[in-house]
This record gives sequence, structure tokens and C-alpha cells, in this order.
Amino acid sequence: MTTYVYSFERGDGKNKMLLGGKGANLAEMTQIGLNVPPGFTITTEACLAYLEHDALPDGVMDEVRTAMCELEEKTGRGFGSKTNPLLVSVRSGSAMSMPGMMDTILNLGLNAETLEGLIHQTDNPRFGYDAWRRFIQLYGKIALGVPDELFDEAMNELKQKVGAKQDVDLTGPQLKELAQSYVGIVEKHTGHPFPTDPMQQLEMAIAAVFRSWMGKRAVDYRRQFKITPEMANGTAVNVCTMVFGNMGNDSATGVGFTRNPATGENVIFGEYLTNAQGEDVVAGIRTPKPIAEMALEMPRLHAELMDLRNKLERHYKEIQDFEFTIEKGRLYALQTRNGKMNARAMVVTSVEMANEGVITREQALLRANPALLEQLMVPTLAPGSNAVSLATGLPASPGAASGRVVFDADTAEARGKLGEKIILVREETKPEDIHGFFAAEGILTARGGKTSHAAVVARGMGKPCVSGCAAIQIDVHARKARVGEAEFVEGDVITIDGTTGKVYAGRIPTVEAEFFGELQTLLEWADEAATLKVRANADTPNDAARAKRFGAVGIGLCRTERMFNDPGRLPVVQEMILADTPEERQSALDRLLPFQREDFKGIFRAMAGLPVTVRLLDPPIHEFLPTASQLEFEIDHLRNLKRAVRGMNELPETLRMLDPELHHAYVDSLDHLNANLVEYEHQHRFDALISRREAMLRKVHALHEVNPMLGHRGVRLGLTNPEIYTMQIRALFEAAAGCMREGVTVNAEIMVPQVCTREELVRVKAIFDTELDRVTALLGERPHVRFGTMIEVVRACMRAGSLAQIAEFFSFGTNDLTQATFSFSREDAENKFLPFYQETKILRENPFEVLDVKGVGRLMQMAVQWGREVRPDLKVGICGEQGGQPDSVRFCHAIGLDYVSCSAPRVPIARLAAAQAKLREKEYSTTVFD
Ligand code: PEP
Ligand code: MG
Repeated sequence: MTTYVYSFERGDGKNKMLLGGKGANLAEMTQIGLNVPPGFTITTEACLAYLEHDALPDGVMDEVRTAMCELEEKTGRGFGSKTNPLLVSVRSGSAMSMPGMMDTILNLGLNAETLEGLIHQTDNPRFGYDAWRRFIQLYGKIALGVPDELFDEAMNELKQKVGAKQDVDLTGPQLKELAQSYVGIVEKHTGHPFPTDPMQQLEMAIAAVFRSWMGKRAVDYRRQFKITPEMANGTAVNVCTMVFGNMGNDSATGVGFTRNPATGENVIFGEYLTNAQGEDVVAGIRTPKPIAEMALEMPRLHAELMDLRNKLERHYKEIQDFEFTIEKGRLYALQTRNGKMNARAMVVTSVEMANEGVITREQALLRANPALLEQLMVPTLAPGSNAVSLATGLPASPGAASGRVVFDADTAEARGKLGEKIILVREETKPEDIHGFFAAEGILTARGGKTSHAAVVARGMGKPCVSGCAAIQIDVHARKARVGEAEFVEGDVITIDGTTGKVYAGRIPTVEAEFFGELQTLLEWADEAATLKVRANADTPNDAARAKRFGAVGIGLCRTERMFNDPGRLPVVQEMILADTPEERQSALDRLLPFQREDFKGIFRAMAGLPVTVRLLDPPIHEFLPTASQLEFEIDHLRNLKRAVRGMNELPETLRMLDPELHHAYVDSLDHLNANLVEYEHQHRFDALISRREAMLRKVHALHEVNPMLGHRGVRLGLTNPEIYTMQIRALFEAAAGCMREGVTVNAEIMVPQVCTREELVRVKAIFDTELDRVTALLGERPHVRFGTMIEVVRACMRAGSLAQIAEFFSFGTNDLTQATFSFSREDAENKFLPFYQETKILRENPFEVLDVKGVGRLMQMAVQWGREVRPDLKVGICGEQGGQPDSVRFCHAIGLDYVSCSAPRVPIARLAAAQAKLREKEYSTTVFD
């Protein structure tokens, strides 16, 4: 028979799938001797059975009754007792931590009789009525579906009536009155009396917590964080003896991190409130005090708390995020879980714990999720921007963000979908706001501490957050807010800095993050562990230098078209395209060559001997010309202008944009010369402008293709117009020879895009050889440059062996290879049908982001194998976008690639992912293609 209920003494602390993270940890903490209030866990299996049949499985309540009897024995109290009542909390908890996303009910077991018992037992009527009204509200909301606002309204009314600022200001009789009005609210809303039988309360509460697994915010959260049923399936329910932090001034409740989760500093970080219950801290209703203050206020308990913290960290070998309650001077641990940290703290604690000997270097490398490092590339406010802040709140999650003020989560979601950048501004946040967080660039709240939901969730997402900013007054209905002296309406732009807690009006410029010491160290350890190298995609000397700072050990892809697109060169490129004769074309190329040579030199110098892979021109040449409709518009416009300016003394402003030089000359001439002459001259100038555009338009029509991505581009273009590749190859050799003469080591590679046959490579290689001889003869230096090919066409994979006869290296262009393998246009798929494919699980991932191992990956694996059969020392890399994505990096390692190449900010991610791939290579399944 299945067991559905485990006491904390019996539960297996390692079995999070069955007991949930919270239940497993309560069991583990109990079993290592920490002071945990007695309790038991109802398994996730019971939850799944409940959800399937809409009823608790047979036998569960029998087990629960037995467990409750045990609790009564352990605590010496009675469930439903009039004299010495036992109250319990009923908490959710799944295998993956989902803070605040599911439901919890406290003080269960209260009714009119047990309430009297509680008051008698504690000799504290105020405490009793407070517990009672809290229970009615939570139970009413969660188990009976009564809207929260009804209770909030009653609370606010009462506070106003009696002139109380906070709920702690309410007296016992006032709380009693409040509780009675809450009962009325529940009964009116449900049409039934409030349930008084404790066991019935418990049964309904267990069912309600199970249901919250399928609640909207839990479902949204799982979707956003890609929590699959293999990772967490159903929630467990933990039934735990209540201990009270609101039993007077020798009682308190708080939450703590064993180290600072924002900076990683090895100092306990947390907050507490005296005379309060846990929900007051996390809901951000009262702003709590830092734990450091406890050393003064309750020194003995502070020392006990430090002891608890040390025991937790030593046992779990991981930063813990724990909750505690002090009831009448006695400290209890209520829960613990691995602390969610931002990337900075993750890196700092990894390095420090390894240096302290708490964990090994290997564990330090495996502990951090590489994708988190992206947060370290978060922008910060540009130094010297001198902006004056309007207000300061708590620095709850680092990074700076600007966006339009929005006052509720639904609007944030709607405007975010339209592509707007949003800052979600709230009084305080509730878990219901989660979809607003996803949509926002940053979050700003008026109330709440650094451990409030807003802060915890924002940190997890790596979004900047400023919380507890008391200077904000929000009027949600009028959709405006006052921040210090300034007033904002919805849609106004503000900037928040989650690192300092400051709030600014308008958009403040930001700068990228810099590497810090611990990150350098961790990445150096990663490089030592990894065998897969990490290069960067970079097209300019600046990008190359930045990539090197991020630790790239080469450039895996330098796209030369970026050099053609430079505004200073584009007219020359266009001249080359429009040339009528070979001489004209050569003359344009001759002028382009020095530009390319200097670009290459800049990159070689920046990389100082590290490999640089230069790709020959890839896009179709029509991309360097304006579109047909743009040209048609300009021609029309110029014709109109030509007519209109005849006899005019002033030129229309539009001419300034079309031809600033003509505009300038015209204005100047009108001042100084005979107007008729000038006009004659400029009518001719108009004709020249028009006919140049007409020629371009003819060319654009001639070059038009129905499918340009499958068209006249890459090596096809290079072979039909060999003078272009000749110029590029020559420029590269000249740059290499020039640098060598300067004493700069050059390690260059040339690669050919879009190759599908061996013969294409043979033809380009012939140009390569000829130019190499020519430059060597001319400059007296023979650069050593490797010759290779991109593999981004399906046929190239199938013919890899034959290509490897010519190519010394392969570089997988997985953007095009994914396009070709799926027949999904890389330009359109992602904003047409791919979101639907992912939402409806036709595809699990976007293959343009995460390498499709089974299809594209399979082709790659075959190509590597066949290529190396012909050329065992064939060097192989990847330069498509997936090259910086951790799972894809892992696959690249598994099939024996030499390097991955990705954009500079992802280089640190790829370095760590490469180390993890090596450390976990034995776990990698050979069945990835099944
Ligand atoms: C690719 O296709 O993956 C690639 C790197 O080249 P591009 O994105 O320039 O086509
Ligand atoms: Mg490509």
C-alpha cells in the first residue's frame, strides 16, 4: 500500500520529488538535530492523485489522523482542545523552489472554542484574536475562494475608524471585532457557516494547497522557468505545529541568508520583525529590521541564530535561505532551502567557499548556472552622468534599467508585449504580479524589505529592483505617482538603479559591467578544466579587444560585410556594384582594399597572435543598395524638387537630407552668384542625381531574387565575381604581412561561406594560392594563413569528407544550417509560427537559440566524423548563435569540437559551460539522438 504521509523524523531528506524541497529539508533539519517544530509531510503523489480524481486518495486522511495523534503526543496539546489547543500550518512545497507561487494556511485548528483555549493558554487575548483573524482571512481566501480585497477593505476601514497606522496598533477588542467582521464576509460570500471542525478544516486546506499547484501563478512560473514534470511534479503539503512570533516582545520572526545573496559577502543577511508572523516579513506589509540589530536587541538569540546559520551551511555545503521564528525566547528553524542568488553572489560564494575548503573547485565550477553570468553583463549607470536621484529605496536586485512607468501587472504585460520597456511600480508586490515581472525591465516598490517577494523574484530573474522606497506615493486609480518632488503619470520614463536603490526621472545612460576578481578567478579555473576553447564573433578591432577582455582565445567569425557597410565606404561599394566595365569595378575595389587591410590589421593587433577567422563576403550584393521602393520614392521626389526649385530663392528642407552638398552649394551660390547661372548648373546636378538612382534601380531589379537567402550569395557570389574575393584575400595577406613586419604575430584563417561542393572550395583555394604567392613576392613575407570552410548547408555536411580534402578547418554556421535543416526562414520563423510551436510543445526549444541536437546536431556529428576520417587534425568550431548557449556548448564538447564562438558578452557563459561539459562528460548520454 502506498504511504502518503511521512513524519519529519521518518521522511527521506534526499527525496525532494516525493516530499518537495521544503518537506525534505524539514525532515533533514529534524534529523540533524535542529530545533524544528514537529510535523509531517503529505507526498506529491497524493497531490497528483488528488488532481487526477478531484478527490484525496483513499487512506490519506486516515494517515493524516494518525500523524495528528502523534503530533498531539509530541506537543502535549490537543487538536480541537478547548484548554490546550494544537494549531498547525499547512504549507505547500514542490521539488523546485517556487517562492510564493503556491498557497499556505496558518493557525489552522482555530474556532470559537479553541480560540478561548489559546487565549487561556497564552494569557494573551490580543494574540488570540490576531491569530484568529489571520486564519479566517487566509482560510477564506485559499480554501473558500473569498477575494482578498474584501478583508483588506474591512481592515482599512477599521484602521481608519480607530486611527491605527499599522495592524500592530490594533488592540485585542479591535482585532476581535475585525475577526467577527471577517467571519461575516466569509459567510456572506460562500453562503455557508465558517467551518468549525478542525479536522474538516485540515482536509479542505490540504485539498486547497494541492489545487494551488495548478493555479495561474504557479503555472506561469513553471512555464517561465521551464520547470518540467521531470523536475517537479505536484506539490507536497507540510503540516507543521504552529510556533508564534507574535506572542509579545520576546517573540520574533525572520528570514535569513547564510551569506549575502546580492554580493556574496560572507555575512549573514536577513531581516526580522519582533512580535510578528512570517507573512508580515515576506509580504512586505511592515518594513523589517536587519538581523545585525538583533545582536543588540536579543543578544542570546542572535548568538543562537549564528549557530543555526553555521550548522545549516556546513551541512548543506550551499548558501541557505531559511526562515525562523522565536516564540517566547525559543528559536525554531521553520524551513531552509538553497539560496537563490544573483550571478555576482553565485560567483563570489563559489570562489570563497572553495577557498575556505567548504567545497572543491570542481564543485565551485559545477555549482553556478552559466546562463546566470549573463546578469553580470547587466548595465550599470554611466559614471559621471551626474543625474540627481529623486528618491532612494532599498537596493534589492542589482543593475540599472529605464522604462515607462506602469502601475499594474496586467498593463505591464500588455504593453511589454507591444515591445515597450516597462518599469513596474507598485505599492508592494504580491505573487499575483509575477506576469508583470516577466514583462518589466525593472521593479520599484514603495514598501517591503530586501527579502520581500518583489526582491526575491527580481533577483531570481536578474532584473533590477528597488524596494521599500517610502518616498513614493502611488494613486493607482488616477494612474499617477509622486516620487519626492516629481509627479509621474503612467507612461513617463524613469530609471532605477537596483545596485544603489536610487530612482531617477527620465532615461539615464548606462554602461556595461566590468569583470571583477572572483569572476576572473572562477573563469580561470573553468579554462583549466575545459578542453573546448571559446572564441568570439567580432567584426571590428573594438569588438575584438572587448572579446579578448572577456577571455575569448580567438575570433571564430569576423563577418567582413560589416566593413562594407560602414557609411564612409558604402558609396564605393555601390560604385563597384554599379560599374559598367571591369576597369570601373576594379577601380572601386582598389579603393576598398586599403580599408579592408586596415580593418584586418586592427583586429590582428588586438588579438596579438590569437587565431582570427575571417569570413569572405557572404550576403547578396543587393543588400548594399537601397530597396527598389526607396529608390522609386527618391527619384520621384527629386523630379518634383527639380521642377519646384526652378526660380526659387530657397530650397526645400528635404533636399538637405537627400543631398546635403547640393543643398549647401545652392544656398551659398544664391548668396554670391548670378541666380540664373546657378540654376542652370543645378538643374544638371539634379539630372545627375536622378540618373544615378535610375541606374541603381535597374541594378536592383536585375539583382532581384524571390528567395535571396537561398540565392546569389556566399561562395556563389564570390565565384561569379572573383575580383571581390581576390581583393579581400589580398587585403588579408597584405595586412598579415604588414603586421608581421611590425612584429605582431598573426594567426589568421580565411573561410568561405555557403559552400556545398568541393569544386567551389578548389576554385577559391586557387585564388588564395595565387594571391599568397603574389603578396609574398611583393612584400617579402609569406604569412601562414589557414584555409577552411563554413559548414552551413546540408549538402556540406553530407560531403564533409570530400570538403576536408581541401579545407583545413570547418566552422559550423548553425544559423543557416538550422534554417536549411528545418526549412524555417531564420528571418521570419521566430515572429511567425515558432512561438506557437513552443507554446503548444510541437518543439521544446527555439532551434535558433538552442541547438537542435537531434537534427542539426546529428548532421554536425556526422560531418565531424567524416571530415576527420579524411583529415585527422581537422579543426572544427561553431560560430552560429547557439555557440554561447550552455546546452549547445555541452553538445559541441560531446561531439569533439575544438571551439565554440559566440558574441562577446556570452564568452564568460560559454567558458563556464565548457568547463561543466568536461566535468560532466561521463554523464552525457549517448542516446541524445534518439
Ligand atoms: C551562420 O549561418 O550560422 C553564421 C554564423 O553566419 P551568418 O549568421 O552570418 O549567416
Ligand atoms: Mg551563415
